[in-house]
This record gives sequence, C-alpha cells and structure tokens, in this order.
Amino acid sequence: MSWPFRTIIEPFKIKVVEPIRFTTREERQVILREARYNMFNIRAQDVLIDLLTDSGTAAMSSEQWAVMMRGDNAYAGSTSFYRFEAVVKELTGYQHIIPTHQGRAAEKILFSLVGGQGKCIPSNTHFDTTRANVEFTGAEAVDLVIPEGKQSQAAHPFKGNMDLHKLERLLAAAKPGQVPLCMVTVTNNSGGGQPVSMHNLRETRKLCQQYGVPLFLDACRFAENAFFIKRREPGYQEKATIDIAKEMFRLSDGCTMSAKKDGLVNIGGFLGMNDSGLAQQARNLLILTEGFPTYGGLAGRDLEAIAQGLHEVLDEDYLTYRLRSVEYLAERLRQIGYPLIEPPGGHAVYIDARMLLPHIPATQFPGQSLCSAFFEYGGIRTVEVGNAMFGRTENGKEIPADMDLVRLAIPRRAYTQSHIDYVVEVAEEIYKNRHALRGFRVVKQAPILRHFTIELEPCD
Ligand SMILES: *Cc1c(COP(=O)(O)O)cnc(C)c1O
Repeated sequence: MSWPFRTIIEPFKIKVVEPIRFTTREERQVILREARYNMFNIRAQDVLIDLLTDSGTAAMSSEQWAVMMRGDNAYAGSTSFYRFEAVVKELTGYQHIIPTHQGRAAEKILFSLVGGQGKCIPSNTHFDTTRANVEFTGAEAVDLVIPEGKQSQAAHPFKGNMDLHKLERLLAAAKPGQVPLCMVTVTNNSGGGQPVSMHNLRETRKLCQQYGVPLFLDACRFAENAFFIKRREPGYQEKATIDIAKEMFRLSDGCTMSAKKDGLVNIGGFLGMNDSGLAQQARNLLILTEGFPTYGGLAGRDLEAIAQGLHEVLDEDYLTYRLRSVEYLAERLRQIGYPLIEPPGGHAVYIDARMLLPHIPATQFPGQSLCSAFFEYGGIRTVEVGNAMFGRTENGKEIPADMDLVRLAIPRRAYTQSHIDYVVEVAEEIYKNRHALRGFRVVKQAPILRHFTIELEPCD
C-alpha cells in the first residue's frame, strides 16, 4: 500500500492491555541498588518500558490467539504440526522442518552433528548462543563480516554482509571436511541488526557451492532483512517482501530459526534443511532432548501461533511500521546528540556509551552507567553490550571490550509511539546530566557470560 501521509501509524488497534507500573525515582534508586546495578536482576514488575530484548516479547495478534485454540496436542502426527510444516516449507523451500523450543535448541542439534574438534564454522557474525554451541563441540566459530560492519559510523546499506575475500581465503585454506557448513545471520544481530544484501547472499552461495560447503541461514530476523533488501537493494523495489524472503531461503541449504523474533511468538523455533541424512540424525537427537519430531518441545498451540506469525510478519504495512519505529527512535536520539551505530538496524537502536561518556574509562563500564541512568531517570530497561558482556580479566587485569554500547531493543507490536516519545524525553534529561554520571566497579562476577550475574557498585 502506498501511504501518502508523513505519520506512519501502528497498523493495528489494541484489544488486550497489560498495565505497566509506575515507580518513583527514589524507589528506582533502591531497586537498582538491590539489583547490584545489573539489569537482568530487576523484576519485570518494576520496569515501566522494557527494552531489554526483542526476543519473545512480541504482542500476538487476535488471529494468533484464535488459532491457538485449535492447537492439536497429539503426541504423534499432530494436525498443528502439519499446518506449521506446510507454512514453513512453503516459505523456505526446505525438505525437512524440525520444530524446536527455541533457536538455541536448533543450534545445539545442528552443531552436535556437524561440529567437533578441528572443525571450523564461518559466519558474518555468530550470535552469542550460536558461537557458544559451536565452541561447545570443540569447533571454531569465525566471524567474517565486512570491515564496515565493525565501524559504528561507517555508512553502508548492508553492514551485515559477509566479507567474500576472507570467506574465500578460509574455504581455500581449509582441509576437506573441515568446514561442515557456513552460516549467515540475517539480520546480523551481534553486528547491530544490520541487513545482508541478496547480492552478498548469492555470492556467498556461489563460493560455498564451489567448495562443496552447505550454506545455512541464522534466520531469526529474515522478514526485517527481506524488507531492508526491498528498500535498499537495486532491483527489489517492485518485488513483494514474501518473494524476497523466499529467494533468500532458496539460496541456502538450511536454517536455524528462533521464532521468538520474526515468528511473532513468545516461544518456539525450528531447524530446516534439505539433506535427508542429516535431518534423520537431527530428528534422532531431537527425540533425545526436545521431543517427538511432530512437536519438538512445543505445544500444538505454539506451532499454530508460529504458522500464523510467519504469515503476519511479512505484511508490508507491519514491516513499514516496524522499521519506522526503530528509525524514529534513532532520529530523535540523534537530534539530542547521542552517538549511535549508524544506520540503525532492524530491531534496536545502539548508543555508543563510551563516546557519550568520555569521562568514564572503559574499565568502569560506561555502558552500565547509561543503563542505570535510563532506569533511574525513567524506569526504562535497556541492556549493555560492552565491557560487562565481552570484557574479561586476565591475571587480575581488566581487558575492556572493543565498544561499550547500550541497546534499546524494540519489542514487536508491544509499545506505541507515545511510549517511545517518553523514552526520548528521558534520554533528553539524561543527556543534559551526562557529565554527572559515574562509573562502576565489579563486586562479584562469574568466569563466563558474566553479564547475566555480574554485581556492580558505583565508583565514588
Ligand atoms: C535470539 C537469537 C538466537 C537464539 O535464539 P533463542 O530463541 O534465544 O534460543 C540465535 N541467533 C540469533 C541471531 C538470535 O537473535
């Protein structure tokens, strides 16, 4: 639909509401202190606007709730499974569709089968659970995103693209069988939700075919990626997003999918592939950890909701609104003076906290400082993607991460523009007082994935 107005409106009306709880600044100071300034320790009921993640936080549609009622919970041969399978097959073109309870379960099964000591899995950028599942098998996870993908201010329409020269070098140097598959993450979550172009996907495919390596998509945000292609890649403006998505999938041999993102559901995922032998092995593992192949760790109603969600997510009015809401928040923050990862990606806005707060050294967690401020000033929960997440200590010395970012992830269909305007107003207030924000020091931390449980206290 061509929309002649400047205001892009939410393409839905609200039927069910969930109240959000207001707190005072004094209450939030106590909550922060008790949470040891770790956003993961704050209870959801104490959060006014929750921008921690876009995963599993979507609002479902009335149609999704309606189809859930017909969910068939038969242990074997569930009608809901066949409905789900038909939708996913039509979208992806894969021969085999294996439901899982979420994305990482699909990763766990896939890499248990193809990973192992001495193996190497290239990707544009592995998401953290993907990397963890690859490395857990003893294999090596290699990130080969283009150089622009790592520069926050570099202008490029497809900053999630694979560096084809580096991929070719890796494939040419590999021993036979050493690279069991190549992954491409669409959009590139760990790289800021940046899209991958069809051209890049096609060239990646060619290289993989030349070296006999299957190509798998980490397809969590396939619809957002497809819509970026429609918007930005020459030759795709007149194509329907659903056809672009189908083209993306048909350039690959399989995928892992977390339906908690572009499946528009709160739980679910799947593993898809064309290789029948591998699929048989995957189903054997599935039975061990997830369940029988016609439910894979999900209730029949979940399979119904995913099937409907995959249909709704490709609606171009929805995608217009979706990308616009992220862009809108970015525009407003940029106007205030916030340094952002540019251009904004599909699901979140990332603030460069190290650049915003130059008076706080990287070892004192400028990202955590900004997260704390968002919560204290406005009850807004964000997440640090920086030193707490990727920094480490070696011989008692703190080695900081490359960047200190704060991510404001936008849950799908959950908040309205006035919620976002409120976030902007809070951000404005913080910006005025940014010189007063303080750094933090670690009180307690775990040896791995420390950001989930880290305990902090403000520096004096
Ligand atoms: C969320 C995500 C995953 C993992 O999915 P879960 O459903 O959280 O297990 C894998 N890859 C990417 C790119 C993701 O965003």
